[in-house]
Amino acid sequence: MEFCDLKRQYGAYREEIDQAMAQVLQSAHYIHGPDVAALEKELAEFCGANHVVCCANGTDALGLALMALGLKPGDEVIVPAFSFFATAEMPALHGARLRFADVDPVLFNMDPQSVQALIGPKTVGIIAVSLFGLLADLKALQQIADQHGLWLLEDGAQSFGARNSNGFSCAQTALATTSFFPAKPLGCYGDGGAVFCQDEQTAQKVRLLANHGSQQRYHHEAIGLNSRLDSLQAAVLRVKLRHFEQELSQRHEAAQLYDQLLPDSVQKPLIPRDERSAWAQYTLQVENRDELQKFLQARGIPTAIHYPIPLHRQKALETDFALDPCPQADRLSQRVLSLPMHGMMHKEEIQSVCDALREWTLS
Ligand SMILES: *Cc1c(COP(=O)(O)O)cnc(C)c1O
Repeated sequence: MEFCDLKRQYGAYREEIDQAMAQVLQSAHYIHGPDVAALEKELAEFCGANHVVCCANGTDALGLALMALGLKPGDEVIVPAFSFFATAEMPALHGARLRFADVDPVLFNMDPQSVQALIGPKTVGIIAVSLFGLLADLKALQQIADQHGLWLLEDGAQSFGARNSNGFSCAQTALATTSFFPAKPLGCYGDGGAVFCQDEQTAQKVRLLANHGSQQRYHHEAIGLNSRLDSLQAAVLRVKLRHFEQELSQRHEAAQLYDQLLPDSVQKPLIPRDERSAWAQYTLQVENRDELQKFLQARGIPTAIHYPIPLHRQKALETDFALDPCPQADRLSQRVLSLPMHGMMHKEEIQSVCDALREWTLS
């Protein structure tokens, strides 16, 4: 069994993907080809964002968004203590001072009350992560941001396709980002990412920054990056986007089957009513997590720990934990265990994972 079976997925779309890639190869439009522009339009239509700028990966997408927001050294940015490293790495790279908000013990996402408590005179913005595919509480966070004149950026690397009563992930904040890393809900076959913008001026700025600050070749208006999505990845993504709703339903069905078959002694992920997760991960909370992981591994069941060290304790970020205590993030980092999850899971696989967990509970 695979944790995320990308071979099975490729097998399902093989003909369409091979054909789309062959077309790019023959066209020789490898950079900035027509597939990139078409994909940007299709992504915008899918989620309801006004503008989409594709780029090289989800980390760059965050960096580009922060550059477009004008982040400067010394600015304070609030990030959740429980996320993938890139969420904190990008503001840190641009010289920001990080403040770490604690997270909800059940939903895994940033706790708005914890955010509120961290706001000070130097705070400029909030990065909200929609972790494991579930939208962050963007409504509450937007209210806080508006009250204090801060920007709110959604890191939707794990949540493209997720929805709540206000619409889709990546279309609810002035700026949002996602990743097309192969194992993300909408993944390509290499690296890829995108920035979602509500206003055209910001989109133009992001587009400029992603291309060496240049609109006209050899004329540079700003210091930027070389961060482009290549045409081959765009062609793959266009095929996969056509099947994405179907895959999201398949992930949802897999999650429902887990919910139904797992023993009650493990804490299952909770999705609030009227929300749809993109199910980037199906993450349990358990005691003796490390032992359970070994037990499952011995039975051929791969699992993953997202994340064993919370961001406020990462060596590279040199923070003072006493300043921003994040007890829930600390607790989760000891308890979380993600089970195999992707859009092509077989019922028998889910059944065997649940059987093994039941056996563990009884042992
Ligand atoms: C994967 C991920 C990123 C970075 O995306 P890459 O495409 O791998 O650079 C950023 N934030 C979160 C929350 C992620 O899960």
